[in-house]
Amino acid sequence: MIIGAGFAGYQAARDLSRTLRGAVDIVLINPNDYFLYLPLLPEVAAGVLEPRRVSVSLTGTLPHVRLVLGEVHGVDLDARRISWRDPDGRSGEMAYDRLILSVGSVNKLLPIPGVAEHAHGFRGMPEALFLRDHVTRQIEMSGTSEDPRERAARRTFVVVGAGYTGTEVAAHGVLFTDSLARKNTTLRDAPRPRWLLLDIAPRVLPELDWTRSCPARPTGCCANGVWRSAPAPRSTRPPRRACGWTTASSSTPGR
Ligand SMILES: Cc1cc2nc3c(=O)[nH]c(=O)nc-3n(C[C@H](O)[C@H](O)[C@H](O)COP(=O)(O)OP(=O)(O)OC[C@H]3O[C@@H](n4cnc5c(N)ncnc54)[C@H](O)[C@@H]3O)c2cc1C
Repeated sequence: MIIGAGFAGYQAARDLSRTLRGAVDIVLINPNDYFLYLPLLPEVAAGVLEPRRVSVSLTGTLPHVRLVLGEVHGVDLDARRISWRDPDGRSGEMAYDRLILSVGSVNKLLPIPGVAEHAHGFRGMPEALFLRDHVTRQIEMSGTSEDPRERAARRTFVVVGAGYTGTEVAAHGVLFTDSLARKNTTLRDAPRPRWLLLDIAPRVLPELDWTRSCPARPTGCCANGVWRSAPAPRSTRPPRRACGWTTASSSTPGR
């Protein structure tokens, strides 16, 4: 029994399927019928890649594996049973001999007021497609607005977390919004869309060593259309209509 078809679960299912060739029952439980190649999600959000390019069919690539669509909500280690719920909300139980628990992690929501209500996470296909549509909508609406403040706000995007994901989202975001703005005749004379990448670390990509990550000056500086910035006083914070939340992951929901 394998719970979760991310990198760990998918690889385990593939290796077991190839090695055992139907000699044992392999059950894979996952909410979706595809394995999602997460590192390419920023490209989906930026419209560079179509969703099918970053998703791999589970049933199509895992012979000898029985896929059960659903979410596990309980594991009884003593009784060797799991309880799960299918996408229609029906519950069930299943017995297992060996268990691989590979459910990954969830977005880490720090206790910052407003984040839970207003920021958008970035971990799955629905969120990537939402972001793509949301960003597109903001650029188009900035072209039709008569109010200069609203036009500027709709062209300003904030990404919180300058790790791999946040930096990639911001970098692809710049290319994406530049190309949208170029095609929009009402934005020909408008300033370039502005992206802010925020982190408490003094530099972009803080998990890399200094020679490979990018030192940021405390006041912020602009490179390729992305502003890197230390926390700014409230009065200098720009108006914006989109906030992406890409801080580190947590293995525990709600932490
Ligand atoms: C946008 C993004 C970009 C990234 N880019 C990189 C990169 O370039 N390089 C890199 O090394 N790492 C990258 N990472 C991190 C990397 O994706 C993770 O380290 C990796 O996905 C962890 O693999 P996993 O199998 O443990 O979990 P996951 O890949 O998260 O898989 C967990 C699976 O379990 C399923 N699941 C969750 N709960 C349940 C449940 N209750 N019941 C059943 N199934 C459940 C989920 O739907 C999912 O399919 C990125 C992450 C993100 C979000």
